Amino acid sequence: MVIMMTDNIKPISNTSQVCTRCVLDTTVPDIRFNTKGECHYCQIHDELEKEFPLNGETEHKLKKIVEEIKRKGRGKKYDIIVGLSGGRDSALALYRTIELGLRPLAVHFDNGWNSEIAVTNIKNVTEKLSVDLLTYVIDWEEFKDLQISFLKASVSDAEIPTDVAIHGALHKVAVQEGIPYLIFAHSFRTEGVAPLGWTYMDGRYIKSVQKIFGHKKLKTFPNMTAWDVFYYRFIKGIKVIPLLAYMSYDQKQVSQMLAKELGWHYYGGHHHESYYTHFFQSYYLPKKFHIDKRKIEYSALIRSGQMSREKALEEIRKEEYPYDTELVDYTIKKLGLTQEEFEAIMAAPNKSFHDYPTYYPLIKAMSKFFAFVNKLNLFPKHLYLKFLG
Ligand SMILES: [Zn+2]
Repeated sequence: MVIMMTDNIKPISNTSQVCTRCVLDTTVPDIRFNTKGECHYCQIHDELEKEFPLNGETEHKLKKIVEEIKRKGRGKKYDIIVGLSGGRDSALALYRTIELGLRPLAVHFDNGWNSEIAVTNIKNVTEKLSVDLLTYVIDWEEFKDLQISFLKASVSDAEIPTDVAIHGALHKVAVQEGIPYLIFAHSFRTEGVAPLGWTYMDGRYIKSVQKIFGHKKLKTFPNMTAWDVFYYRFIKGIKVIPLLAYMSYDQKQVSQMLAKELGWHYYGGHHHESYYTHFFQSYYLPKKFHIDKRKIEYSALIRSGQMSREKALEEIRKEEYPYDTELVDYTIKKLGLTQEEFEAIMAAPNKSFHDYPTYYPLIKAMSKFFAFVNKLNLFPKHLYLKFLG
């Protein structure tokens, strides 16, 4: 593929404010700054560092968790499910799971947009680690219809059908296989937390957008409605382990280690292991919403001391997110859209999740309940802080 680079310098507007510590700025609709000019996403990072400090205490906590997982897995073939995308984070999570002496089942969610490099990575990583792999293939026609619905909804959350389905698919497999533990490979130290105003997701949002714009009923889509979350968490007792939060994560060192040990290859950008995510982050978001998702990753790396703020600002100013025209054409064709339909999507007035029925008003109204539930560690801490922090 030909990578198109633009070399025009993008000035930062005079009215915009950039966090004094990271590179998130007022292109994030919900951003707030304290008196030092630091954004609340930096504060969320500090909260998470307090929750998962890299010291003996965290190591001890993880050891206890691993012991419990092993105890519950006794007599069974697998202890835990690890979601595997072909990307760096999930390959690392699988590697660490083996290091901890656990017996994982790797589950890959296939939404039809895998790049060749993702497929090779999944093969190499599972073979080298001798881990069984289960691939969950989604109904393509139904999923494609939902992806188009989210594009027509004209929201920056248009990639959440994949994110929600990954969660739903892993929980479904967990119930089917009788494995009560799951690992989602998210590291706040390298990946950061996607701002609420850029990425909001819930199961009701999926249903309402599909009802308005879709042509197909969601019959097989592994959604995560409030009922699904209740069922998986409280009736089936499935627990999600934020494994990577318990450990340090140096992005460069990890990439080298994974390449050497597991034959893993880098694919050029954050989550570019998926063709759709690559299109979405490099073209759809910057062109339609002026959202540059590199800012989230760079900000995380700055906060964890792996990138200088100057270098990040320079990268962002130097060039727009590079995109590939062939990839844009491929995406339009694969979705079955005409050029005119796609242009209408790009030109439609922008909306947000506040314009559609979601659980968000209810979550806000029940903030005291969620503050209590948060203490029980039933939901990922970073999501609580993002929604209600
Ligand atoms: Zn910040």
